[in-house]
Amino acid sequence: MSGSKRKWIYAFGGGSADGDSSLKNLLGGKGANLAEMASLGLPVPPGFTLTTEVCTAYYDNDRTYPDGLTAEIDSALAELEEKAGKKFGDPSNPLLVSVRSGARASMPGMMDTVLNLGLNDETAEGLAILSGDRRFAFDSYRRFIQMYSDVVLGVSHSVFEEILDDYKAENDFNLDTELSADDWEVIVAAYKKAVAENHDRPFPTDPREQLNGAMDAVFGSWMNERANTYRRLHDIPHSWGTAVNVQAMVFGNMGEKSATGVAFTRNPSTGENRVYGEFLINAQGEDVVAGIRTPQNLTKKTREEMGDDMPSMEEAMPEVYADLDKIFTRLETHYRDMQDIEFTVEQGNLYLLQTRNGKRTARAALRIAVDMAADGLITEDEAVLRVEPASLDQLLHPTLDPEGERDLLVKGLPASPGAAWGKVVFTADDARDMAQAGEKVILVRTETSPEDIHGMHAAEAIVTSRGGMTSHAAVVARGMGTPCVCGAGDMRIEEAQGRFTVAGRKVQRGEIITVDGATGQVFMGQAKMVQPELSGDFARLMEWADRARKLKVRTNAETPHDVQTAKDFGAEGIGLCRTEHMFFDADRIAAVREMILADDVEGREKALAKIQPYQTDDFVEIFRIMEDRPCTIRLLDPPLHEFLPHTEEDVQAVAEATGLPADQLMKRAADLHETNPMLGHRGCRLGVTFPEIYEMQARAIFEAQAAVEKETGVQPLVEVMIPLVSIAPELKFLKQRVDAVAKEVTGKTGVAPKYMLGTMIELPRAALTADEVAEHAEFFSFGTNDLTQTTYGLSRDDSGKFLNDYIKNNIYEKDPFVSLDQTGVGALIEIAVERGRKTRGDIKLGICGEHGGDPASIRFCSKTGLDYVSCSPYRVPIARLAAAQAAISENQ
Ligand code: PEP
Ligand code: MG
Repeated sequence: MSGSKRKWIYAFGGGSADGDSSLKNLLGGKGANLAEMASLGLPVPPGFTLTTEVCTAYYDNDRTYPDGLTAEIDSALAELEEKAGKKFGDPSNPLLVSVRSGARASMPGMMDTVLNLGLNDETAEGLAILSGDRRFAFDSYRRFIQMYSDVVLGVSHSVFEEILDDYKAENDFNLDTELSADDWEVIVAAYKKAVAENHDRPFPTDPREQLNGAMDAVFGSWMNERANTYRRLHDIPHSWGTAVNVQAMVFGNMGEKSATGVAFTRNPSTGENRVYGEFLINAQGEDVVAGIRTPQNLTKKTREEMGDDMPSMEEAMPEVYADLDKIFTRLETHYRDMQDIEFTVEQGNLYLLQTRNGKRTARAALRIAVDMAADGLITEDEAVLRVEPASLDQLLHPTLDPEGERDLLVKGLPASPGAAWGKVVFTADDARDMAQAGEKVILVRTETSPEDIHGMHAAEAIVTSRGGMTSHAAVVARGMGTPCVCGAGDMRIEEAQGRFTVAGRKVQRGEIITVDGATGQVFMGQAKMVQPELSGDFARLMEWADRARKLKVRTNAETPHDVQTAKDFGAEGIGLCRTEHMFFDADRIAAVREMILADDVEGREKALAKIQPYQTDDFVEIFRIMEDRPCTIRLLDPPLHEFLPHTEEDVQAVAEATGLPADQLMKRAADLHETNPMLGHRGCRLGVTFPEIYEMQARAIFEAQAAVEKETGVQPLVEVMIPLVSIAPELKFLKQRVDAVAKEVTGKTGVAPKYMLGTMIELPRAALTADEVAEHAEFFSFGTNDLTQTTYGLSRDDSGKFLNDYIKNNIYEKDPFVSLDQTGVGALIEIAVERGRKTRGDIKLGICGEHGGDPASIRFCSKTGLDYVSCSPYRVPIARLAAAQAAISENQ
C-alpha cells in the first residue's frame, strides 16, 4: 500500500469503531480491544488510535510523522468532539483526553502516559464550573502539569514533589486531601513557574500543542531504555512499534458517586472461576496503583472472606456493579479467555477503559485452560496452547511462598528451577557427610566438576560463583532437578576459611540459606515454601498435549533416581545416558584412574575388568526401570584429564592400588594434560586410541541387556551411541569393535544382543558429511551443546563471562547454548537430516543437547521432522507441552 493511501488513525466510541480486535498488530492490544468493546456497544469513552505504522514510519523517517497525519488528527479530533459533546480547548465545555501507549504485546509500565490533557488556566476554570467542584478541577490541573512536564518536557517529578512538600510543611498539612481548591491553585502557579525555570519554554497552554508533545513523547518512549530492556527480555521485536490511544477522559474522582477500579474475571493467582478485583471511591486510576489508599473489594463474598469492614462495590454501588458483572461475563465469553479490566464510574455512569487477556500464574493458567475446555468455551487444543510450557517449571518443583518474607543475599543465573533451603557447605565430601547425617545442605562452590557429583546429589541446591547456563553445575543440576544458581559473581568464596562474603556480609559454613533457582536469587535464612501439585488439571492438560504432539520425548539421565523421575514425568525413553557420569562414584574412581594411567593394554584391561561389573549393574537398573522404552547409551565422551588425580593424596591412592611408583603416575598424568581439552582427546577419539574402553562398555551393555531379558522377559531396546564423530571412518572403525563384542557375548550367553548403533552429530563436519556417516549409523542424535560450541567456535565453559555483553548489545538475541541458533546451527541440522535420510531413509533422528528442553528449539525440531527430543527429567513435561503446541500450530 502506498504511503498516501494508508489510514493512520482509527476512531472508536459511540457504539461503533473503525477497527476491531483482529487488528491488534495495527492498533496495539489496547486500541484493538477498545475498538472491539465500542463495537459491542459497551460504554467506552470515545477516542482514536494512531496506528503502530505511524510509529514505524516515525522511526524510519528520523522521528518525523508521515504526510497527511496532521489532517487526519484534525478530523479525528473533530469526530471525537462530536461524540463526546465537548470541545478541545473550549473553556465553557472543555474536552480533556488521555494519551496512552499500546503495543501489540502488553508492556506494563514501560512506556509513557499523559492524563487530563487539554487543561490550561481557562479550561480549568471551565471544568470547575461544569463539574461544580473547583477542587477537583485544580487538583486535575496540577496532576496534568506534573505528568506532562515529566513525560514530555523532561522536568523531573522531584521538582514538583519538592514544591508540594514545602507548601504542605509551611501550612501544616499532612495529606493531599487536606488541600483546598485555593491551595491547588497556588500549587498550579508554582508548578508553572518551575516549568518556566527548568525548561526553555513556558508550559504549553494550547491543547493542540499539548497533544503534539504528548504524541511525540509516547512514540518516543517506545525506544526508551526501559522499553528496550523489556522487549529484549520478552522477545518482542523493535520493529513492531507502539500505537497511541487518544481518548476522552472520564473522572472517577468527581465525588462519592464516582470510582475507579480493576478486575480480573477469574482469580489470576489460583484460576478460581470468580471475579477478583478492587475499586476506590472518588479516585483516579493512578491512586489504585499508587497504594496511597487501601482499595475495597468488588464482591461481597470476597470482602466477607477477607474480614474487611469497608463495603464492597457490590454493596456500595449495587446497580453499577450489577452492570459491571454482566459485562465481565460478556467480555470473557466474547474473548474466550480470562480478562483483566479497568473501569471508571463517573457520577454513577460506568465506563470501560481497557480489557485484555489477564496475566496469571502457571497454576491459574492451567486451571483456567482446563475449566474453559471442560465448559466448552475453548477446545482441548486451544487449552494446550494457553499454557506457557516454560511456566510448568513453577509447578514441578517446590517454590518460594510468594507471601513469605525474604532477605536477599546475592543474585546469579537462574540455572535450574525450584527452591530449597539448607546449611551452607563448601565441598562435595562435606555435603555428602552432612546429608548422610540427616542435614539439609546447600553446596556452594566457585564452580563444580564431575568429581563433585556425590556432593551435588546430596545437596538440596547448588550455588556457584562462576559459570554460565551450560556450565557443569547448571547441566548436572537440571538433570537431577536440583535447584541451582550459577555465576553469582558478587559472591567471594573462601573455602579454606569455611565462609563466603557478599558485599561485606559473611556467611559461615553451617548457616542456613535459601536458593531460588527459578529467579537466580539466594536468600539468607530459611524461606517459606509451597509444594507442587501434579495430578488433576496438570494430568488432564498433559493428556491432551500427548494426543496432539508428533515428537516423542525422551530424557537425558543416567542414575536410577533420575531415570525413574523422568519416567514418572512421562519420558518415552532415554535419549542420552552419559556413561562418564557413572565413573565418578568414590568407589569407582580409583579403578578408572588406574585404567587411564596404565602404560599398556594389559594394565588397562586389568583396571577395566574392575569397572565392568559396576557398569553392568548400572545398565541393569536402568533397563529394569525403562522396560520396553528405548535407551540410548553413549560410550565414554569427556577428555581423559577430567579423571586424572588432582592431589598428591589421589596419586598415592592410585599408587597403592596399582603398585606403581607415584612419580611415574605423576609423569603419566602430566603427559595426558591438554591445552585445549574441548577439542582434544575426547569422544570417539578415546575409543580409537583405547578401543578396550568402548569394548568394555559394549560388553557391559549387552550383558545387562541379556540379564534383564532373562529376569523380566522383556528385551531392553538398546541404542549404542558413539560421541564426537567427525568423519565416517571413525564410526566405521568403532562399529566394528562394538559388533565384535556383540558376537563375543552371543557366544557367551547364547543370546544375540539386539541393538541399534548410531552417532551423535555434534561437529559441523559430521553434519556436512551426514550422507557418509549414515552409511554406518542407524540413528543420529544432535548434540547441540557441542554443535553450538564448534559452529560458533565459542567455548561452552567460558563464554558465560562475556555472553552478556553480546546480548546487551543485541548482537546475540539469546544465549545460543540455551535456545538453538536456528539460522546457523539449525542449518547444519537441516543439512544433516536431509543428507542422512538420502543414505538411509528410515534413519532415526533426535536431539539430546540442552536445547531439547527449550520450547523454541522444540518447535524447530518438530518442523524439521525429528523423531524425538531428549531433555533433563524435569524438562520432560515442558517438552511434551511444547511439542504439542508445535504440532497444533503447524496444523493451523
Ligand atoms: C552435546 O554436545 O550436545 C551433548 C549432549 O553432549 P555433552 O553435553 O555431554 O557434551
Ligand atoms: Mg557433546
